[in-house]
Amino acid sequence: MARVFNFSAGPAALPLEVLEQAREELTDWQGCGMSVMEISHRSKEFIGIAERAESDLRALLQIPEDYKVLFVQGGATTQFGAVPLNLAEQTSAADYLLTGSWSKKALAEAQRFCDARAAASAADGGFTEIPDPSTWALRDDAAYLHYTPNETIGGVEFHTIPDCGDVPLVADMSSTILSRPLDVSKFGVIYAGAQKNIGPAGLTIVIVRGDLVDRARAATPTMLSYAPMAAAGSMLNTPPTYTWYIAGLVFGWLRERGGLEAMGEINRDKAELIYGAIDSSDFYANPVRKDCRSWMNVPFTLAKPELDATFLDEARAAALTNLKGHRSVGGMRASIYNAMPLAGVRTLVDFMAEFERRHG
Ligand SMILES: *Cc1c(COP(=O)(O)O)cnc(C)c1O
Repeated sequence: MARVFNFSAGPAALPLEVLEQAREELTDWQGCGMSVMEISHRSKEFIGIAERAESDLRALLQIPEDYKVLFVQGGATTQFGAVPLNLAEQTSAADYLLTGSWSKKALAEAQRFCDARAAASAADGGFTEIPDPSTWALRDDAAYLHYTPNETIGGVEFHTIPDCGDVPLVADMSSTILSRPLDVSKFGVIYAGAQKNIGPAGLTIVIVRGDLVDRARAATPTMLSYAPMAAAGSMLNTPPTYTWYIAGLVFGWLRERGGLEAMGEINRDKAELIYGAIDSSDFYANPVRKDCRSWMNVPFTLAKPELDATFLDEARAAALTNLKGHRSVGGMRASIYNAMPLAGVRTLVDFMAEFERRHG
């Protein structure tokens, strides 16, 4: 069975080289006679794997020294609640920018734990743009401003970092982390589920500025509190060891490829190629305002929606998989994270042109 070009939104494609290395090491990791899955998280072998993964991630993102990096469980969704528990009191203000499904979910969860409100919302326009910063109703006393740099479902992405002065900025980077260089020093907290652009599902990365690590309210469950997790090197209990190991292989793969500068260039080229194909055709359309289009998730519709199923069938036959749009929006979506090579996007764009010639 040959590999396909997999456009899944998540869990998403992993680099073939990483899978091959994992296969190579599956039953005997570097001569220890055991799989990484079979060794203690307290063993010197695994501690080495864990430390290497963190140092490679720090190098890739140039994470400042005073930030803690946590490798935790529960997905980005658990951080929707962990963020207010760690940064706010029940009566504290917290501002949210609503730009799509994920930021809406983050706000709804935070409202259980603090006075969280939408400072801006793009709901009226069907979440196809980022509201102009001049319209944001930010509160000076907010414990933090939360936003979703890339809305995975709607394909809306911030191409600049919001300016909220001294209020800590919190970002759900699940579907955009590691896609290009990032100035981590602008953020209070960054979190991301692994299964889009980091590794397999089961791991969540949290990057926390030093002064925000130890502020959790007393009732916060220990496993959700940043300070004890940081003090324990993310090993308060058994971490997802194998996922952590694969994430480490992905970080190594990224560094070998020239790091985030190089990835950013490839990712921009991939995005331009596919949006160019959509915009130059009357058959395909993307609803997002051009300056807010995602580099990672490209939703598009067909002029004849009755052909959606045919499009997906023929794409599958051409080894292009998982192009079905999210159930809440329909149409198609091509997720083109780091592991999707330019060749995959070229193949998709050629397929789209050919499909249009035959059915348009
Ligand atoms: C996928 C996704 C989530 C949910 O992630 P889980 O790890 O499944 O909790 C949250 N936010 C964004 C932006 C996502 O893309």
